[in-house]
Amino acid sequence: MTSKLLEVKGLHKSFPLKNSLFQQKRFVHAVNGVTLELNEGETIGIVGESGCGKSTTGRCILRLIEPTSGEIIFQGKDITKIRKQEMKRFRRDIQMVFQNPMDSMNPKLTVAEIITEPLIAHSIPKEHRYRILKETMELVGLSESQLNRYPHEFSGGQRQRIGIARAITLRPKIVILDEPVSALDVSVQSQILNLLQDLQEELGLSYIFISHDLGVVEHIAHKVGVMYLGELVEFADKDQLFTEPLHPYTKALISAIPKSDPDEVKERIILQGELPSPANPPAGCKFHPRCAHANETCMSLNPILTDVNGRKVACHLYQE
Ligand code: SF4
Repeated sequence: MTSKLLEVKGLHKSFPLKNSLFQQKRFVHAVNGVTLELNEGETIGIVGESGCGKSTTGRCILRLIEPTSGEIIFQGKDITKIRKQEMKRFRRDIQMVFQNPMDSMNPKLTVAEIITEPLIAHSIPKEHRYRILKETMELVGLSESQLNRYPHEFSGGQRQRIGIARAITLRPKIVILDEPVSALDVSVQSQILNLLQDLQEELGLSYIFISHDLGVVEHIAHKVGVMYLGELVEFADKDQLFTEPLHPYTKALISAIPKSDPDEVKERIILQGELPSPANPPAGCKFHPRCAHANETCMSLNPILTDVNGRKVACHLYQE
């Protein structure tokens, strides 16, 4: 039986907007009431267009950005309530992989130094470090002969392997992957996805996999959350979501996935208009200006995420 590892409840993150002196203070609600649960050994995919708040959600969970409100319960403890120093203990268990590993690596450090940095930061005794380094390199498919090379000497795929190695060197329980394959060629993407699946099995990892690419998420996730303008609009098991999406936005995203079978008949749903500015979101359901099913209620009342046949959907079409 799988057990609950992480619970995010009503997570909010607002950023203040710059105002002139006499204007009322305004905020961008980048993340607005996101709620989800992650079980041991499970992968949750979070998808949506850029600017929907998915990366901010990931960074808030790790407290790289401080949430405005909400609870993040890890191993029974609300980590939004603990002090920054105490957070170090939890960072050992929750790690992050970024889209471009070069942005988060010191180019002056060798691969060995990059991967051992977290071991030093978490006071892992010196006598264990080399063994862990060698084991980790092997786990991600890098060889010992590459230990003393610098990040710029590697290809994009190998650099992402270094980024993953650094994230798992402390053997965390959860890894938050923020667009980890978006910058890679398709053939390299599948190698990295397979590597992540192997590591999950071998180390019992749980993932939060953030991506704008539904095809990639379909490959790796067990459950999927769809975000729109800072809100979770649908959350379901992967198979349920991809075979029978309910929310009109999810339907449009899925209809845009390229067909793998050329004989497959698939009707593409073209969304009208642009993604509204998060600084000035529409009233009611935030998706209503682009939704073909919008009615009067949608324009004034924002639907809440509700249980519908074993999944969660925020849409008036499915509410009594
Ligand atoms: Fe469309 Fe209305 Fe559902 Fe929003 S609540 S997705 S506008 S039908």
